[in-house]
Amino acid sequence: MDTLNPGTPDPEKMETLRNVAIIHGASAAMVIHAKDIPVDPRVRFKCMIPKCYMSGRCAHCPPYGYSMEKTRNILKNYNQAIFFHVRVESAIIAAKNISSVIASGMADDAGNLYSLGGHYMLVYTLVDMIRKKAMKLGFSATEGFSAGNCKDVLCYLKQSCRKLNGNGKCRKPDISIPSMESVGIDVFLLAAKTGWHVFPIGGQCEPEFVKRGMLMGLVLVA
Ligand code: SF4
Repeated sequence: MDTLNPGTPDPEKMETLRNVAIIHGASAAMVIHAKDIPVDPRVRFKCMIPKCYMSGRCAHCPPYGYSMEKTRNILKNYNQAIFFHVRVESAIIAAKNISSVIASGMADDAGNLYSLGGHYMLVYTLVDMIRKKAMKLGFSATEGFSAGNCKDVLCYLKQSCRKLNGNGKCRKPDISIPSMESVGIDVFLLAAKTGWHVFPIGGQCEPEFVKRGMLMGLVLVA
């Protein structure tokens, strides 16, 4: 997409979209201005240095996916967005060994892998629902962003990302989207600006030290 007229904001329609998120499982959702979405190349670098286990293994993950230039150009074409989060219990998102469980591909006895996967899937589903509703309401374009990576959510049982290592065709083209962080959006800063209390969760975090976990999604509309 080159240039798009972002159109005039319509508070009523934006509230309808916000409610789609809330009604279907988001813990909170806000209407925000696209110009307030912060981008920073250091966010993309963080996926690569030190290297995330998914870096280079998913078509949406750095060093692949949208460049900073592409992200900035996309944002220019939109004036409003729905930003939402899905709360995840600390006992699940910061469960002991959850990082190694995800990387191993072997389900844990506690069921945290599947539970966390369900929360991620909800983010993808909400983005999809908001985008479809926006088109029904007469918006002319949408762009969606999720959390994490689509390989672990949509192609978990497949050996590799087909878009990257197969015939170039994504297995789930209708729902597969990049995460905010993979395109350089500073999600923590955006959440803080929105007024949400977010806590970074590293692989070594213990659940008792994590006040709350959340996964975030974003839908731009024009
Ligand atoms: S959904 Fe699967 S095939 Fe599509 S980009 Fe993600 S990992 Fe690759």
